[in-house]
Amino acid sequence: MPYALTITHLYPDYLNLYGDTGNLIVLRRRCQWMGIDCTVKPLTMEEVAQSGQTDFYFMGGGQDMDQVAIVNDFHQLKHEAIQADTEAGVVFLGVCGGYQLMGNTFLMGNGEETQGLGIINVSTRAPSTDVKQRCIGNLVVEINSAVYAEMQTIYATPRKIPRTLVGFENHSGQTYLGNGVEPLAKTIAGFGNNATAEYEGARYKNVFGSYMHGSLLPKNPHFADYLIGLALRRKYADVNLTLPTLTDTEEFAAHEFVVQRYR
Ligand code: GLN
Repeated sequence: MPYALTITHLYPDYLNLYGDTGNLIVLRRRCQWMGIDCTVKPLTMEEVAQSGQTDFYFMGGGQDMDQVAIVNDFHQLKHEAIQADTEAGVVFLGVCGGYQLMGNTFLMGNGEETQGLGIINVSTRAPSTDVKQRCIGNLVVEINSAVYAEMQTIYATPRKIPRTLVGFENHSGQTYLGNGVEPLAKTIAGFGNNATAEYEGARYKNVFGSYMHGSLLPKNPHFADYLIGLALRRKYADVNLTLPTLTDTEEFAAHEFVVQRYR
């Protein structure tokens, strides 16, 4: 029986900055190449989330006003189910504005505070509305050692994969990690979570937050495979489940070009 993966794309019509939808294209296409039956379902405003219906949530970035627009709907119609799922190990990937909303609070530059989902213990505050204080530019980071070690177990045949992730960031929000949360990576070039921490992204269980647009997964196919692998391992309750190796010659050459250019 071939494996099957259901991915829920949260608020695709609100949270879709800088090509974040490209992440879904990559997940779907890599699954197809690996013989995994992949379905992507949008879940947006006024629709109710039910736990146990998905293997993977994705939420992209958005401007402050888009985040504010969805937040009540999020709490009322989706929060409970998503929290139950992520506590049970369902994969959740949030990028930038999506990452900020996964956390506890987001204090915007205009002084308004938004309550996040609280599915990962991080909080975000923007220093002011002064555009000069934004974190903008290319980002090169080194994946944390626990994540990298686990990433290498995803493939049936051992393969050489980059230790780096590359992407593009543009955010005013400064994110701080709380207890029980590991940074996803250490910053080599760019900012990441905030202007001083030198760490990028966060991980709790199978919940991942990142500031990397670009899009993230096309530029980092090893991270895409890792998330697919984690989602399938949970779904089929098989910690030894592995994925076939795709030929990523061009993808890794492009990745390496960016690493060399910005490191
Ligand atoms: N509104 C957020 C910020 O500027 C997120 C922006 C984004 O998703 N790129 O901090």
